Amino acid sequence: MIDFTAASAPARSTELFARARAALPGGVNSPVRAYGSVGGTPRFLVSARGPYVTDADGREYVDLVCSWGPAILGHAHPGVVDAVQRAAAKGLSFGAPTPGETELAEEILRRVPAAERVRLVSTGTEATMTAVRLARGVTGRDLIVKFAGCYHGHVDALLAQAGSGVATLALPGSAGVTAATAAETIVLPYNDLAAVEAAFAERGDQIAAVITEASPANMGVVPPLPGFNAGLARIARAHGALLIQDEVLTGFRVGPAGWWGLEGAVEGWAPDLFTFGKVVGGGLPVAAIAGSAVLMEQLAPLGPIYQAGTLSGNPVATAAGLATLRAAGPEVYARLDDVAARLSAAVSAALSAEGVAHRIQRAGNLFSVFFGPDASSAGVRDFAAAQAQEVYRHAPFFHAMLAGGVNLPPSVFEAWFVSAAHDDTALDRIVSALPSAARAAAAADPPT
Ligand code: PLP
Repeated sequence: MIDFTAASAPARSTELFARARAALPGGVNSPVRAYGSVGGTPRFLVSARGPYVTDADGREYVDLVCSWGPAILGHAHPGVVDAVQRAAAKGLSFGAPTPGETELAEEILRRVPAAERVRLVSTGTEATMTAVRLARGVTGRDLIVKFAGCYHGHVDALLAQAGSGVATLALPGSAGVTAATAAETIVLPYNDLAAVEAAFAERGDQIAAVITEASPANMGVVPPLPGFNAGLARIARAHGALLIQDEVLTGFRVGPAGWWGLEGAVEGWAPDLFTFGKVVGGGLPVAAIAGSAVLMEQLAPLGPIYQAGTLSGNPVATAAGLATLRAAGPEVYARLDDVAARLSAAVSAALSAEGVAHRIQRAGNLFSVFFGPDASSAGVRDFAAAQAQEVYRHAPFFHAMLAGGVNLPPSVFEAWFVSAAHDDTALDRIVSALPSAARAAAAADPPT
């Protein structure tokens, strides 16, 4: 097998990685960045603009990570940078209410009219953690239903069979989660309403909430089957439990009102609670929980469920989020859809030309590649099928793309993120890198 990792080792990133490993566990502050599943040296990035990122060795890549989602307008969008600079010039953090927080909340509510109140936090993890606490607080119940392959951040109760980095590292969950906490989480196969019905039939009066990614993208992109999310809302309601729709990844990315705007709003149903992150902060740390006034006002200071944050609603971060949402009009979403359609078709054509069995699954402008004949013939509807793909084809594909100047997510279980700044020049560069990457994927040997 060709050793792509050694061939392309960049001197400055190699040096920085060695130094980082002496100071940070694994040299990183979030596990997937360490290139564990693809091998080689993570590129240390020093700047980014539009669809491009530049590493410490001065190499420029077309970026399909986009900060794992937030950069829908492209990197360093002038309007967002300007808003951040203006906000920063007025002070970095006050620990008091600011007008910008209300404006951002109003923008969220305008886009998602199914919600009436918003609480701003700093990370998606905080948002899902708070949503779970709120659900437990209002129902007086302890159990949470989650789905295998869905990732909701590193909340203790939600790490079991999680996607994203947990899947990338092939971990069943996380050490350090108490047995008592794990016992309060029921993990079910995704897209399996019968399993949800059965769990509720057995323990429905103890279940506080079902939490689901609105359209999962942390086990690769595995969209809900028609009626699945509406079924969750119906079953939860029938048993007095809440439905938490986690839109940290999809929210304001797949459309102006996130996945709910494409599905629930059209079908006429809504979850009880939404969680948002990523795009809502435009690249700075903002996330949110949203829902009806009755539910949300159970949070402190009005209600008994405590939640707080020194930097919650930070003025610089909310300025970035607001500027991003305000700039993300219909033309941005149309462009994102167009880029995703063209790119996924080009990837598929390149893989087919080399005889690599694969399936590309899309959810709006999110997509990912699943390798192997099973994925190709049957599609991927759940985590078991995602894990059963030919994972080993991803690392050589990834490294060949990197050598061709394209920065892909360094995990087969992550979605590819496009931006509205991905113009034809950037797309052409990706397309030119594809044939050699497809050849590398075709030549990959299964692990012995
Ligand atoms: N929920 C989903 C669906 C996510 O994709 C993520 C992060 O990727 C999170 C929650 C956690 O967000 P954060 O990394 O900001 O804590």
